[in-house]
Order: sequence, then C-alpha cells, then structure tokens
Amino acid sequence: MEKIQMKTPLVEMDGDEMTRIIWKMIKDILLLPYVDLKTEYYDLGLEHRNETDDQVTLDSAEATKKYGVAVKCATITPNAARMTEYNLKEMWKSPNGTIRAALDGTVFRSPILVKGITPYIPTWKKPICIARHAYGDVYKNTEMLVQQGSKAELCVTKPDGTEERSLIHDFGKSDGIIQGIHNLDSSIGSFARACFNYALDQKLDLWFATKDTISKKYDHRFKDIFQQIFDSEYKEKFEAAGITYFYTLIDDAVARVIRSEGGYIWACKNYDGDVMSDMIATAFGSLAMMTSVLVSPDGVYEYEAAHGTVQRHYYKHLKGEVTSTNSVATLFAWTGALRKRGELDGTPALCDFADKLEKATIQTIEDGVMTGDLYLLSTLENKTKVSTEEFLREVDKRLAAMIG
Ligand code: NAP
Ligand code: MG
Repeated sequence: MEKIQMKTPLVEMDGDEMTRIIWKMIKDILLLPYVDLKTEYYDLGLEHRNETDDQVTLDSAEATKKYGVAVKCATITPNAARMTEYNLKEMWKSPNGTIRAALDGTVFRSPILVKGITPYIPTWKKPICIARHAYGDVYKNTEMLVQQGSKAELCVTKPDGTEERSLIHDFGKSDGIIQGIHNLDSSIGSFARACFNYALDQKLDLWFATKDTISKKYDHRFKDIFQQIFDSEYKEKFEAAGITYFYTLIDDAVARVIRSEGGYIWACKNYDGDVMSDMIATAFGSLAMMTSVLVSPDGVYEYEAAHGTVQRHYYKHLKGEVTSTNSVATLFAWTGALRKRGELDGTPALCDFADKLEKATIQTIEDGVMTGDLYLLSTLENKTKVSTEEFLREVDKRLAAMIG
C-alpha cells in the first residue's frame, strides 16, 4: 500500500511519562504504517527542557508560528517533588503556559462522545466546547486584608500624572478584604478573534456570557469588544457559514446550557472557564476523553489531550506491569493536527485518513473494547478491558479494514 504523502511538516512536541509511551505507540502502530509522516520534532520531555534551559519550549512555539500546526504530548509542570526527581536546575514554567503566551492563544476543550458512555445530563447529545480566556481577572490579582477604620480607593495615575480616584469602601465598622483585578483590551480582542475563528473553523454557534448587568464597566467591556469585533470583522462570514454569535447574561447561559442538547462553543471569562470546564468534563464522563486545541487570533493551531502525563500508570509501567491507559485524547490530538495540516495544504487524503482513524477509534469502544477507565463507566453489556497497547492494535484492525 502506498503511504499518504504530506506536503508541509507539522510541529511535534514530545512529552513525559505515560503519555510519552503512548505517543510512540500511536506513531508506530497507527501513523507510520499509513502516512509518510513529516514532522519537525521538539523534545519537551522534562529532561530535555532542563538540558536546554527550557529554550526547546520557546523554539517549539516559534516553529508552531512558522508551520501553523502543532501536536503536543502532555508534559510535566515541575513542582518541588519534580525538582528532586529530575534534579532540575530551576523550577521551569508550565510549557502550556509558555506556548499559550507565545501564541497569544485561547484553549478550546471538547469531549469525545461514544455510545455507552452517557453524559450525566440526559439532554446533552452533542459536545459542548468550552473556550476559556486565559489572561487576567482574579488570576493576576492584588489582594489586601483591610483593618477597621481604613478607607480603600481605586487610584489610577494617568500618563499626564493626574490621578483618578474612586471609593471602594469605607471600612468604618469592620475589618475586611479588597481585591484589585485587571484585563487588557488587546487580550480580550485576541480572545474574541480566536473564538470567532474557531467557530467558523468548526461551523459551530458561539455563545458568550458575562455578568455585565452588575459589572457595568468591567464585564461590559468584554461584551462591547466582542460585539465590535463581530460586527466589523465576522458578521458576514458567520452569515455565510450559517452560524450565529449569541451574547447573554452568565446566569441565563448556565440555565440554557443545561437545557440544551450541546453542539456549540461556549466562550467564558477566565474564572467561569476554569470552573465550567471541570463541570463539563465530568458531566460528559471522563477527562481521558477530552481534547484540547490552542488557537491563536491569527489562526495557528496546537492540538493536545486535556489530561496530564498519567504519572501513576507510568510508575506501574516502569515496574513492568501491564497498563490500561486511555490513549483516545492523545490520538485525537494527532488526528486534529493531521486534518488541519491536510486542510491548509490541500491534501484531502490526509483529512480522510484523520476521519477514518477517529471513526476506527470510536468504533472500537462502541464494539465494547476499551481501557480500564472507560470499562468502569460504560453501560455496554458486552465489554472487554484491554491494555494500552492492545487497544491501539484493536483500533488498527478496524482502521486497516476501512482503508482496505
Ligand atoms: P493526570 O495525568 O491527568 O492524571 C490524573 C488521574 O486521572 C490519573 O491518575 C488517572 O486516574 C486519570 N487519568 C488521566 N488521564 C488518563 C488516561 N489517559 N487514561 C486513564 N486514566 C487517566 O493528572 P496528574 O496526575 O494530576 O498530573 C500528572 C502530571 O501531568 C503532572 O506533572 C502535571 O504537571 C502534568 N499535567 C500536564 C498537563 C498538560 O501537559 N496539558 C495537564 C495536566 C497535568 P487513576 O490513577 O485513578 O487511573
Ligand atoms: Mg479548573
């Protein structure tokens, strides 16, 4: 059989622990036999990040800007325990944070739905994709404990040196607390563009919600910036694509989400997105079935799984025990990147391969062949728990049959 050709490379970011093991298995079993895989390889495994003083992470982000598409394996974000375990020179920052900052990107997370794993909300039939604004608000705040008898004010020193002041509270009768938060028009604008672009890319409606009735300047600014950018840059494109942009109050959005059948993108401010993405992931079944894509405002895509490096399974693997780790989200990161590469390069065979590989994966699970995490959740009557590698070989059987 002739292998599918790629015109342009995609950026491959390797990672850590169990997902690094899965990464190689996916390539060996499901990609290399079928595709003449062209990648520019960056090893973001913690050892190599440490050797290069984390330069490799920055280089991989630059390469992503150059090629437009990347696929990333889960990586360790070092903490105190990892400092000792890997004898690190420094507590390197989260690679995801570094790459997100370099691309000015927004993260979109969507669940993969399969028969037998039913969402906790019975009306949900299609995925709900969450977009979280990853800058500012309470994540870059300044907080103070305030003593009774104090007066707290907001004070802005303007470029001409004059001050604008506004009373927060007169703490005459009690001790208390205050918090200062900010956001940037430029960051909100990038967030809006990433959301509008991704909605067009996926042909999905876009919902956005804030608490603008209470926060008449801060949250209202988000609403206004979204609306201005939509009206001036995206309105016609949305009409042509047959999709809508819909703004509502966050309370109303939450109620509508629960009543909905899914099938849209829900853009959230930083805190809302943090909280709601955990709710959505749990309600759809499993973090191991959640995909994630980072989209920049100028249309660069980086695909990955939403879960981490599955450390506990890796230690079992190191002891020589057989693992049953779910590779689906990592596999879908690869298919997402290959399909996007195919779209950008005009190579439909690559898109078709990505579609078939996804279908073969879903079919495997719906045939009752699954890893331990899904085995516990699945309502199918005939189901078998298989190992990490057996699962991928089962997917390959079905893929090979489809490709013929
Ligand atoms: P995790 O790797 O997501 O795993 C947490 C638990 O969730 C696992 O122990 C496992 O439960 C279950 N799980 C997650 N993914 C699974 C899969 N594919 N198949 C089966 N079970 C799965 O989170 P963590 O243990 O908190 O973090 C480990 C490392 O990952 C940390 O160093 C962290 O920095 C890193 N991390 C990286 C990313 C990223 O690169 N995007 C994201 C999050 C965390 P059981 O043990 O009960 O089987
Ligand atoms: Mg959270």
